[in-house]
Amino acid sequence: MEKKPSKMMQHYLITKENNKDVILFYRLGDFYEMFYEDAILCSKILDLTLTSKACGLDEKAPMCGIPAKACDLYLKRLLSMGYKVGICEQLTEPSKNSKEIIERDVIRIVTPGTVMEEEILEEKKNNFICCIYYSKEYYIAFSDISTGEFYITKEATLQKLNDFLIMINPAEIICNNEMKLESLNLNKITLSSLPEFYAFDEFNLKNSEELFYNQFKTNNYKIFEITNNNELIVVGGLLAYLLKTQKRNLTHINTIKYYYSKDYMYLDVNTRKNLELTSQGREGKKRGSLLWLLDKTNTAMGGRTLRNFVEQPLKNSVKINQRLDAVEELYNNLIKREEIIEILKQIHDTERLSSKISYGSISPRECVSIKNSLKLFPVLKELLSSFKSELLQEIREKIDDFSDVTNLLESALKEDTETNNYKDGDYIKFGYDSQLDDFVNASKNGKQWINNLAEVEREETGIKGLKIEYNRVFGYYIEVTNSQKDLVPMRYIRKQTLTNAERYYTEELKSLEEKVLGCEEKALKREIELFTNIREELKKNVTKLQLSSRYVGLLDAIISLSEVASENNYVKPTINENIKHIKIIDGRHPVVESLLNKGEFIANDTYLNEDSDRTMIITGPNMAGKSTYMRQVALITLLAHIGSFVPAKLAEISLTDRIFTRIGASDDLIYGQSTFMVEMTEVATILANATNQSLILLDEVGRGTATFDGLSIAWSVMEYLSNNIKAKTLFSTHYHELTELEGKLDGVKNYRITVKEFNGSIIFLRKIARGGANKSFGIEVAKLAGLPKELIEKSKIILSELESKDLLKENIDVNQVSGQAKQIISMLKDIDLNSITPLEALSILSTLKDKL
Ligand code: ATP
Repeated sequence: MEKKPSKMMQHYLITKENNKDVILFYRLGDFYEMFYEDAILCSKILDLTLTSKACGLDEKAPMCGIPAKACDLYLKRLLSMGYKVGICEQLTEPSKNSKEIIERDVIRIVTPGTVMEEEILEEKKNNFICCIYYSKEYYIAFSDISTGEFYITKEATLQKLNDFLIMINPAEIICNNEMKLESLNLNKITLSSLPEFYAFDEFNLKNSEELFYNQFKTNNYKIFEITNNNELIVVGGLLAYLLKTQKRNLTHINTIKYYYSKDYMYLDVNTRKNLELTSQGREGKKRGSLLWLLDKTNTAMGGRTLRNFVEQPLKNSVKINQRLDAVEELYNNLIKREEIIEILKQIHDTERLSSKISYGSISPRECVSIKNSLKLFPVLKELLSSFKSELLQEIREKIDDFSDVTNLLESALKEDTETNNYKDGDYIKFGYDSQLDDFVNASKNGKQWINNLAEVEREETGIKGLKIEYNRVFGYYIEVTNSQKDLVPMRYIRKQTLTNAERYYTEELKSLEEKVLGCEEKALKREIELFTNIREELKKNVTKLQLSSRYVGLLDAIISLSEVASENNYVKPTINENIKHIKIIDGRHPVVESLLNKGEFIANDTYLNEDSDRTMIITGPNMAGKSTYMRQVALITLLAHIGSFVPAKLAEISLTDRIFTRIGASDDLIYGQSTFMVEMTEVATILANATNQSLILLDEVGRGTATFDGLSIAWSVMEYLSNNIKAKTLFSTHYHELTELEGKLDGVKNYRITVKEFNGSIIFLRKIARGGANKSFGIEVAKLAGLPKELIEKSKIILSELESKDLLKENIDVNQVSGQAKQIISMLKDIDLNSITPLEALSILSTLKDKL
């Protein structure tokens, strides 16, 4: 007869068949096991021992496993490698009759974008899943299910989609098939890595309408500013995917926000990278970035809010000034600020915890954290009561008082409970529920009776080492070591034999056990029941809790900005529609300054306006500080748009729609683009998109090619910017020839970063001054960098030879010569030898000679 897999294995195989694209964690007792190809794969990538399990067939099934307790650790590793994991749980408790098959099913599929486990999530960063539906335009829905945020937006071009995706940095992207094809093109323009695009086929209007209604309890799309079917379809697609993977109602996702790109300053990938907004260096570390400097938040919510501030500077001057006024009030009130900070330090991530409430995965320990945090909300409200600024008042109003919830949790839960799984019990306070108290008392008494019984048995039998103990498999037993086995009386019934001891029970022990275990079981059941009720009560508060938590996050972010401003001596910038210029007195680069000793950073002024001072051409030797200066202007402008104070003595900042940067060489060799090609593509993007409200930073444009080509390109880029775009531009260059543009082109002014020559070497003064630099000092800088002495000497000789020949001049002469030659040739051609008089011939000869 043909062999069949065991019942369990049959179930496994069916489950796996239904979940082909995930690694299946299959619960067997205290372990999650993987079988067959999953086992072979995971044993390799997770470094687990590959074993095998008899499964009813001739060949055993390859198997490897992980302890259920350590699940998060392995999940994290698999998710970071881009895998999805299906969690197949035991739905029924293993019964004593081992023949009965335990029911199991996949309760959730964990994917990189649907993580809820705090051990896996980054505390101060959103974890977005993004869904894109491409149909002429790119319709985007994105959500962080760990916080319950859900957004919708659209982008018109692939380039904008790319910039948008880099900004939200999604952990997972799902899309329709058309978008999957488009993503190949997207990869070509993407400089940073994005997750793979995963095609999902559940996009249709009818389903979307239904899903939408079930989720948001309305089909009045207008209230969410959803105006077309494609927007609805993409929302439906994301909801379908979330339900398919999470397999539960996501009640904490209860509203949609339309993300309007036009409300925010547009920053493309290069600019984000070049200005090192949230990460720095090749490895993308937070340290050394602007966010690193600004982030003094004390709550996870605040951390996420501040990151969003930095990633999405505002364009609306009312909103900017609301933030600035709030920062100012806190800046001026050190004592209150410190009191608020002390409170914030004690507040847990109530936003993510409220998602766990609605998920049903909140633990008793976490409920205590929620309670301790919520108790502080009224304290925050009180501390905010004396503040006048609009935003701080709004925050005070929007943070709710949760006294009902805190009272409930306070009376129900043991303060010091460490229980992570509510099914383990031992977290409800004595005195909260009389029924539970009765069971607990009875089981305590029973335990005392058992202890007494041990005493009695030791006396009766004379076995000194006799112990009564308990384990989950065998229940209570009397243990006697082999050396005293002979003293065991007849009434003892053997239960289990160990190498050095025997275990027994007696009728009396058995009946006591039944009493104790009966009560313990009842107590546990009651505890679970009580906890479930508490959880239901909490669920009613989820929306309120989310909202309050977000306002706590906002407060924390604002406080952080005022702390940074006060520690580093920043000023409140003036920014509104009436200001059309950028005027900075004693500006500093916030991050470079913070990395130097106090007082070491040299402050500099900036003035840019709409006409006479549109463009600064900045010359100066290498290392003088040109890049630092240009970035400092951009960062001060950006900080003002965030609503932050700025590192300067005075700052007046015009509203800016975009900041563009073209800095440094970013080779994109993987996609076959050379440094110069990348540079030119970036310049082309700037020229195509900049407006007269943009700020442009151009560092060394044209350096990637031959001198004359580069110079001519740089020259004409400047002309184009000045004549056609009229944006505020900072242009640093080593081409001194470009300083000739001042006076020739409207709005161009020359500046140089000054150095002092001293004993054949140079000293960097770091001060910006009017006028162009007249020398490059490249060799001096090379000397400072430690190039060999002979090499430096040789370079100087070559330089002086080149300068004496003045190659550039010679070239121009050659051009002139060839022009004159043409003239001479054409004059000679024009002479009619048959009619010319000797006098005329002489006169022509003399003119020709003059031309030489
Ligand atoms: P290159 O032309 O070689 O790119 P650069 O002129 O752009 O050089 P930066 O990279 O801006 O020079 O500056 C070089 C270093 O000088 C910085 O890393 C910083 O440590 C220091 N520096 C720049 N500006 C200042 C300043 N205003 N005060 C103090 N130190 C500064």
